[in-house]
Amino acid sequence: MCPLCSILETGTHILFSCSAARALWSFIREALGSDWEAGDLAEFLQGRATQPGHKRRLFWCIFVALMWTLWTTLNKMVIEQIFPRRTSDSFFKFLTFLQYWHLLARHRVRDLLGVMLDVLVAAAQHLCAPWACFGVCH
Ligand SMILES: [Zn+2]
Repeated sequence: MCPLCSILETGTHILFSCSAARALWSFIREALGSDWEAGDLAEFLQGRATQPGHKRRLFWCIFVALMWTLWTTLNKMVIEQIFPRRTSDSFFKFLTFLQYWHLLARHRVRDLLGVMLDVLVAAAQHLCAPWACFGVCH
């Protein structure tokens, strides 16, 4: 069972329809554009995973960091009973994976990923700024 939604935990649920997944997908879509809309794996991979050259590699770097963030976050909840304090915790966890892993990419992809990282970090900082929570957080 999903620890957040209390429904059967499937791959599609964990990675796409869980509230944790939808929050992270929304963050990425807001930062990088509507291309990052996803309802399920087949829908998402159609077109995106078959792009030519560096765009495909760039896509896979971000996609794998996203998947790993969701998998480790939900495992921590199920196995260790440790829940994130804020939704934005998963945004920063995702960005941390991406920052580490982008150094392993080829030069062209690393440079493009660096630009995307700057956009994502700026979006996360904006979301977590004191004025962005409208007083709900404090
Ligand atoms: Zn769920």
